[in-house]
Amino acid sequence: MMKKEALKTGILNALHGVDPKTATPQQLHQALGETVMEAIAPDWKKSMDAHEHSRRACYFSMEFLVGRAVYNNLLVLDVMQEAEEAFAELGVSLSDLEVIEDAALGNGGLGRLAACFLDSAATLDLPLDGYGIRYKYGLFKQYFEDGCQKEVPDDWMRYGDAWSVRREEDAVLVEFAGQTVRAVPYDMPVIGCKTKHIGNLRLWQAEPVHTFDFDLFNQQKYLEAAAETVYAEDISRVLYPSDDTWEGKKLRLKQQYFFCAASLQDILKKHKAAYGTLDNLADKLAIQLNDTHPVISVPELVRQLMLPENGYTFERAFGMARQIFHYTNHTVMPEALEKWDCNLVQQLLPAVYDIILRIEEQFMTEMYQKGVDKAQANRMKLVQDGMVHMARIAVYASAHTNGVAAIHTEILKDSVLKDWYQVYPERFQNKTNGITQRRWLALCNPELSGLLTELLGSDDWKIHLDDLKQLERYADDTAVLERFLAIKQTKKEQLAAYIAEKEGVQIDPQSIFDIQIKRLHEYKRQLLNAFSILYLYFGLKDGSIADITPVTFLFGAKSAPGYRRAKAIIKFIHEVAKLVEADPLVSQKIKVVFVSNYNVSYAEKLVAAADVSEQISTAGTEASGTGNMKLMLNGAVTLGTYDGANIEIVEEAGEENNYIFGAKVEELEQIMPTYDSRKLFSENEKIRRVVETLIDGTCCDGGSGDFRELYYSLLDGASWHAPDNYYLLGDLESYVAAKLRCNGDYTDRMAFAKKQWLNICNAGKFSSDRTIADYAENIWNIQAVTVD
Ligand SMILES: *Cc1c(COP(=O)(O)O)cnc(C)c1O
Repeated sequence: MMKKEALKTGILNALHGVDPKTATPQQLHQALGETVMEAIAPDWKKSMDAHEHSRRACYFSMEFLVGRAVYNNLLVLDVMQEAEEAFAELGVSLSDLEVIEDAALGNGGLGRLAACFLDSAATLDLPLDGYGIRYKYGLFKQYFEDGCQKEVPDDWMRYGDAWSVRREEDAVLVEFAGQTVRAVPYDMPVIGCKTKHIGNLRLWQAEPVHTFDFDLFNQQKYLEAAAETVYAEDISRVLYPSDDTWEGKKLRLKQQYFFCAASLQDILKKHKAAYGTLDNLADKLAIQLNDTHPVISVPELVRQLMLPENGYTFERAFGMARQIFHYTNHTVMPEALEKWDCNLVQQLLPAVYDIILRIEEQFMTEMYQKGVDKAQANRMKLVQDGMVHMARIAVYASAHTNGVAAIHTEILKDSVLKDWYQVYPERFQNKTNGITQRRWLALCNPELSGLLTELLGSDDWKIHLDDLKQLERYADDTAVLERFLAIKQTKKEQLAAYIAEKEGVQIDPQSIFDIQIKRLHEYKRQLLNAFSILYLYFGLKDGSIADITPVTFLFGAKSAPGYRRAKAIIKFIHEVAKLVEADPLVSQKIKVVFVSNYNVSYAEKLVAAADVSEQISTAGTEASGTGNMKLMLNGAVTLGTYDGANIEIVEEAGEENNYIFGAKVEELEQIMPTYDSRKLFSENEKIRRVVETLIDGTCCDGGSGDFRELYYSLLDGASWHAPDNYYLLGDLESYVAAKLRCNGDYTDRMAFAKKQWLNICNAGKFSSDRTIADYAENIWNIQAVTVD
C-alpha cells in the first residue's frame, strides 16, 4: 500500500522542516505515525462503516495492554522493509524508535489478552471493537534500589500519542450524583494482517464540562471551575496497578461506570443512526465483558434504554440486556470476585442502583419459578449483606459465561459458580485463551519466522498458525534443528546484549535461559523458583548434586505497590542472586537476574530467547496463562504444573517434550485439608535449609522483617490463610527433580532441540485467531465483513 517514497515524503512533510538527522526519535515517531495514519484512514473509515451496518461485537475492558504500536503496525501493513529503507535514506534508523514507550494501559494477562483479541478480530475481518479508558498514566515503571521495587509514574503520552485520533464530535456526558463529566474518545486503529480491514479501539478520556478559563475574574467561579477540572480529569488519570483485588474503591467504581456509560451511549447513538430504532438492538449487538470490571454496564444499559427518549419498559430493556451481554471470568481467587458496597453504589449512581434492585427482584422471582431451593437462591443473591456481587450479576444478566482454559471452566462449573451452573448449564462455555502470532512470533522473532516461512514455502502461518504442524516432519532433520539452534543462539545473544545495556549485568548466552516472566503473585510461586535455585545452590556446594549445565535464571515481574509479600519476594530473589554470585563454585553454574520494568516490549525480547518456560503456579490457581503460549511458540519447553493452559500445551506438544511436576488439582483437594507444612519442614533437612535462608541471615531483607513474615506465612499461616496455602514446600522436591531432568536433557542439544521444535509445531491451537473465531461463532454470532 505505501511505498518507500510515499513514506519518505510523508515523514518529511510531517517534520515541518526539521532535519530528520537532528530530529528526536519522538519527533520521527510522530512523523511516521502521522504518515501511516493518513494512509490508512480510508480503509479504517470503510471498516467502521461496515461494522456499524453489521451484527457486531464490542469488547469492554478496563485494560488494553497494547504495548508499542509502531513496529507492529508496520509489520501488519507489510511495509517494515520500506520503512527501514525510508529511514535509512533520511539518514536515520528505524531501530531508533526502540526508545518509544509502550502503551501500558493494563496490568498483565487480562489486558494483554484484550489487545491480542482485537488484533485477531481485525485479521479475521470480524466486526469487533474495543472500548476502554485512556489512562494518562499507564502501569507504573519499575526500578530496583538495593533489590527493592520502586515505582515511578508512567507518563506515556509525554511526547504525544501518534497512533490515536481524538474524536471531538463523539464526546458524550457521563453523570454521577452531583457531578457531570465529559467523555472524549480517542480511537486507535487495530490493523489486520493480510487484509484491508481495520478494527477500532476507542478509549475514553475524562474532561471537565466547562472549559477551565471561564470567568477568570470571578474568583468563586474560577475556583469552582478549577476544582471541577481536577476532579473530572482524576477519573482517567491512572490505571490501578493491582492485578486482582481493588483498592481506592470510589474512584475505581467511577472509572468503571465512566467508560461503560460513555461506551453504551456511543453504541446506542451509532445504532440509531444506522437503523433508526433500537428495537433490533439485540439482533445487531453483542458485548463481551472482560472480567467483572465492566459489569456495571448491565444496569446502565437498562437505564439508558428506559430513558424517555428511548422509552422501553424495564422488562423489555432487561430482556435485551440479557441477550446482548456475555461474561468472561478470569480468576477463581475468592478475594478477586468484585463486590461493591451498596451505600457506595447508591450514593454515586442512584439511578443505576435502583435498576440493580429491580434486577435482583426479578432474579428472586425467577429462582422461585424455577423451583430453585431457598438456601441455594439465597447463596446466589445479587445483593447480599450490603454488597452488590458483580460476578453474580454478570452470570445472571448475560447470555453466556466463559472460563479461559479447559480446567478453569471446569473449576467454575464445579466450585466457584456451581450454583449457577446448576440453574443455567447451557450458558457455560470454555474459550481457551490465545496470543497473536503477529506480535509474538513474526514481530519478536523475525529470524525464526524466516526459517518457518522458508520451510513452509509461505508465510500463511501468520494467519493460519495451524500450518506449523506441517513442520513436524523436520523434527529429526539435524540440518533444520541446527538452523533452529543457531537462531535461538542469536536471540540469546541479542537478549544478553540488551540486558548488559539495560541492567548492567553480563549473562552467558551459552548457558540455558530459564525464564519466569509474569506479574509477581504468591500463587504464581516465584518464591518456589527461588527456593529451587537455593536447593541447587546447597546441593552443588555439598556435592549431593553432582554437576549441572550452566543456567541463567531470568525473572521479570512487577508487584502491586501495596502488596507486601510480593515485594518481599522480589527482594528475596535479588538476595539469592547475590548469594549465588558470591560463591566461586556455584557462580560458574548458576546466574540469577531480575530484569527491571518487565513490560510487553521486554517480553518480546525474553520469549524469543528462552529455552525453558517457567509456569509453576499451584494447580487450580492460574486460570489460563498466556505467557506460557508466547514462550512455547518461540521454542521454549514448559517446566510447569498441571494448571491453566499448561495442560492443553502438554496435550498438544506431548508430555515427553515438556517437564511437568507437582500435585494436581484433584490431589490437592485431598492433601490441603490436612497438609502440615511444619511437618515437612522438620522432617526434610533440605527443605528446611532452603526455607531457613529467610531468617538465618543467609538472605537479608534490610531489617524490614518482610522475610520473617514470608517464613511465617509458610509455616504458621496468617489470620486469613492456612500455612503454605500455595503448597510451595509440598511441590519443591518434585519441582527440583523436574528442573534437574530438564537440565540434564539439555546436554544432548539435538534431542533437546527436537523437543523445542515440536513445541513450536504444536502451538497452532494457541493462536488468539482460534479463540476469537470460537467467540464469533459460539457466543457473538457475528460474521466476517468485507472491506475493499
Ligand atoms: C503475556 C503477558 C503477561 C501475562 O503473563 P502470564 O505468564 O500469563 O501471567 C503479563 N505481562 C506482560 C507484559 C505480558 O506480555
